[in-house]
Amino acid sequence: MIPFSPPRIDDKIINEVADALRSGWITTGPKTKLFEKKIANYCSVSNVLAVNSWTTGAELLLYWFGIKEGDEVIVPVYTYCATANIVIHRGAKVIMVDMNSDFGIDVSKIEKFITSKTKAIIPVDVGGLPIQFDELKEIVNKPSVKAKFNPQSENQEKLGRIMILSDAAHSFGATYNGLKVGSEVDFTVFSFHAVKNLTTAEGGAICINLPKPFDNAEIYKQLNTLSLHGQNKDALAKTQKGSWEYDVIDAGFKCNMTDILSSIGLVEFDRYESETLPFRKRIFKEYTELLSNYTWAIIPHYVDQKRESSYHLYLLRIKDITLAQRNLIIQEIFNQDVSVNVHYKPLPLLSFYKELGYKLDDYPMAESTWECEISLPVYYSLSTEQIEEVVSAVVFAIEKIKNNV
Ligand SMILES: *Cc1c(COP(=O)(O)O)cnc(C)c1O
Repeated sequence: MIPFSPPRIDDKIINEVADALRSGWITTGPKTKLFEKKIANYCSVSNVLAVNSWTTGAELLLYWFGIKEGDEVIVPVYTYCATANIVIHRGAKVIMVDMNSDFGIDVSKIEKFITSKTKAIIPVDVGGLPIQFDELKEIVNKPSVKAKFNPQSENQEKLGRIMILSDAAHSFGATYNGLKVGSEVDFTVFSFHAVKNLTTAEGGAICINLPKPFDNAEIYKQLNTLSLHGQNKDALAKTQKGSWEYDVIDAGFKCNMTDILSSIGLVEFDRYESETLPFRKRIFKEYTELLSNYTWAIIPHYVDQKRESSYHLYLLRIKDITLAQRNLIIQEIFNQDVSVNVHYKPLPLLSFYKELGYKLDDYPMAESTWECEISLPVYYSLSTEQIEEVVSAVVFAIEKIKNNV
């Protein structure tokens, strides 16, 4: 069976984890701080906070910005549930916007959803391709849009406009305007979950990139404190002689990254540019070469003048098939011992959101994309022969199902 995206666990990883365990320092400590510095340098930002997942990190930011009941947050309709669930956790309202043909939020549709209640926008770099950040930033900075903004917390007052929090769960290492993503908007949050390009088993990181008058080093300290129950001294600081005394300045979260997991991240980071990205790029190219021979294939877009994907998900679309056919095709591919996936079931189809009244009919692009999408396996050791096997399984399945109807 060809798996979909197994993690790369080898002796390097195992030895580094053993090293963390033997050091006796297993929670947040020197390895996590080093991991943060490496990411900050890679992403051209001054400060990065490592956290225990994308979800907790991003929710912490909504809390920091003072988002609460009565507020609205704009998210794409085509994403993983985490993007919207964190808005629900804060008691705010999820405003869904349709997608474009690159799988990102349709930036041209955003402005008409902005009201005086809008506090944040969370775009998603689906599959690893950065969204149109320049166009999105232009919208939140428009005088007419800023005039609508109704600040209700100190940080909202200071920013003076809608906050942009990029869901970069897929796009670590992707490029935008020649830089690795992380410094385009106010906050960029990565996920290091087991299936992501760079994994720590579970984990995430926040790139802090607020404009003046914010002091990003100061914000790092605030967020670090908020990630540790609002306690003003972390475990490392408390190891100093005689420094037991602490205070709690906010009812914060508990979402710090551990050194055991950062040790996996450090190994993954060191081979990311030299191995992970080139391997994944080669796999995308080979799929594209083989699939371009078929008129039914809609090849995913992963590079242009401004952007280059991190090659996270190979999002294939099949022309002229129904939802029922797509599902039969997937079954047939699995019968050939190849694992595939669907990214995504749009949010309005999930019971929780359906019951809140969201309807897929309102998002025609998401509806037509989801009906014909199949994601192919991409992982470090997928060989050329296996890529050919995957494509043969896909071709066989499509021809069989299409000819049957
Ligand atoms: C994986 C994923 C998340 C959640 O990441 P966690 O680290 O598991 O919390 C959020 N958004 C998208 C688009 C994802 O794919």
